[in-house]
Amino acid sequence: MVVAEEILNLIGGSTAPATSGQWLEKHRPVDETLLCRVARSGAEDVAAAVAAARSAQPAWAERTPVERGNVVRELALRLRERREEASAIVVEETGKPLELALGETDAAIEMGLFVAGEGRRSYGRTTTASTPHRTVFTVRQPLGVAALIMSFNTPLPNVAWKAFPAIFCGNAAIMKPSEHTPASASLFVDLALEAGVPDGVLNVIHGLGPEAGAPLVEHPGVDLVSFTGSAATGRWVNETAGRRLAKVCLELGGKNALVVCDDADLDAAVRWALASAFSNAGQRCASASRLVVLDAVYDAFRDRLLEGVRDLEPQPVISRESLERISEVVARAVEHGATVLAGGDRLDRRGWHFAPTVLEDAAPTAEISCSELFGPVTVLYRAADLDEAIALVNDSPYGLTAAIHTASVHRAMRFAERVQAGVVVVNAGTHGSEPHVGFGGVKDSGTGWREAGVEALDVYSDLKVVNLVTYPNNA
Ligand code: NAD
Repeated sequence: MVVAEEILNLIGGSTAPATSGQWLEKHRPVDETLLCRVARSGAEDVAAAVAAARSAQPAWAERTPVERGNVVRELALRLRERREEASAIVVEETGKPLELALGETDAAIEMGLFVAGEGRRSYGRTTTASTPHRTVFTVRQPLGVAALIMSFNTPLPNVAWKAFPAIFCGNAAIMKPSEHTPASASLFVDLALEAGVPDGVLNVIHGLGPEAGAPLVEHPGVDLVSFTGSAATGRWVNETAGRRLAKVCLELGGKNALVVCDDADLDAAVRWALASAFSNAGQRCASASRLVVLDAVYDAFRDRLLEGVRDLEPQPVISRESLERISEVVARAVEHGATVLAGGDRLDRRGWHFAPTVLEDAAPTAEISCSELFGPVTVLYRAADLDEAIALVNDSPYGLTAAIHTASVHRAMRFAERVQAGVVVVNAGTHGSEPHVGFGGVKDSGTGWREAGVEALDVYSDLKVVNLVTYPNNA
C-alpha cells in the first residue's frame, strides 16, 4: 500500500487528526474506489498551525541563506531517493499515467535543487548615491508566515514551486494542498522533517477550501498568501487578504490558444496541439483549450487533429464534480450551436472519464470560448490572417500562455509582441515551464507575480535598501 490509510495534518513537527475529529474520503479517479481518509480541518487547526509557524520562524530566519539552501537541497535529494514512491502516490491520487507522474516528480526535485543553489547565488543590487561616501545596496528579508494554497493538477510541482522558495527565503509556511491530492503533499512534509527542516517551519493543514483554506486566508498571523487555483477563488482570496494588506500572489486559470499559420509544419502543429490540449486530461493551467487556425490550412489541420484524437488514451479527471461540470458546459455549448467533431460526452466506464473532445462553430463570446473547463476539451476557430488570429487570442479574460506555429520569424515576433500572455511559445506547445524560468500570466490569470525562477524569490521576500554612509575623517 503506497498511500497511508489516514492522512494527517503536520503542525509544529507533530502529526495530528483534525481537532473536530472529522475526516474526508478521498477516492481514486480511475475507478472511484476509496484511497484514504483525510483530516478535515477547520479554523482551530489553522490557528494552531499559524501559532507553530510564528514561533518557529525567527530562529529559521537567523540561519544563513547558505544553511537554508543546504536544508532545501537535502529535502530535494530525499525526494529524489523516493522518486518512484512519490510518483506512485500521485498516480493513485490523480489517475494520471506513471510516466507523467515521474516527469512531474523530477520537475519538483529540480525546483528544489535550483532554489538550493540560490543559497550561494542570491544576488542583490548595489547602486550609486547622490552624496559622497554613501553606499546603497539591497538585502532580502523574509516576510514571516506564508500560506501556500494549491491546486491538484500537478501535485508535487505545485508544492515544490511554493514550499522550496518560501522556506528558503526564511519564512515559515503552512501548506493547504488540494483536498484531491493530500497524500503526495503529506509525503513531502514528512521528507522535510527528515531533511532537517525545523519543527514548525513547514506545516500542512488538510481539508476543504472553504473550511481549511478560508481561515488561513483570513488569519491575521499570515503575512503572505500564495495561491494557485481558479480565478473565482483567487478573486476572493485577493479581496480577503488584501483587506488587511497582506501580500497576495495569485496563479490562476488560462484559456490558452495555440495558433496554426498557413506556413506551419502541420504534423508538428498537430502533435503539439494534441499534447497541449489533452495531456493530463486537459487539467493544466497552460492547456490549449483554443486552437486558432488560419483559413488556408483549417480543413487539413482539423482532419489530422481528429485522426490523432482517435489514438489518445483517455485519462480520468479529478472528481465527479469536475466530470459533471465539464459535461454540462459542453452540452450548453452544443445547445448554443457548437459542433462536436470528437468526443463530447463522458465515457461509459468506471472512473471519471470524459472523452477527448474537439468542437468547432463556437462563437468567440460563448461560455465555452471564455471559461476555463480544466478538462480534455478544445475548440477550433478559423481566422483569415495573423492579425485576426491575434485578435481572437486576445479576446479572452485570461492571459496565461499562448503558442504559434509558423516558419516566419516575422510572424513569430509579431505574435510575441502583440499577444496578451505571460508566456509565449513558438513552434511547440502552450506548456513547458522549467524551474529556472519565471511562470505566470496577465489579466485574470494572475496578479503579475511569477513562480519558479529567481522571480519566485520576489514573492517570498522583501527587498530592504541599506544606505551606508562612512566618515572620511575616521580613516
Ligand atoms: P480551486 O480554486 O477550486 O482550488 C484551489 C485550492 O484552493 C484548493 O486547495 C482548494 O481547497 C482551495 N480553496 C477553495 N476555496 C477556497 C477558499 N474559499 N479559501 C481558500 N482556499 C480555497 O482550483 P482547482 O480546481 O483546485 O484548480 C484548478 C485551477 O487552478 C484552474 O483554474 C487552473 O488553471 C489553476 N491553476 C493555475 C496554475 C498557474 O500556475 N497559473 C497552475 C495550476 C492550476
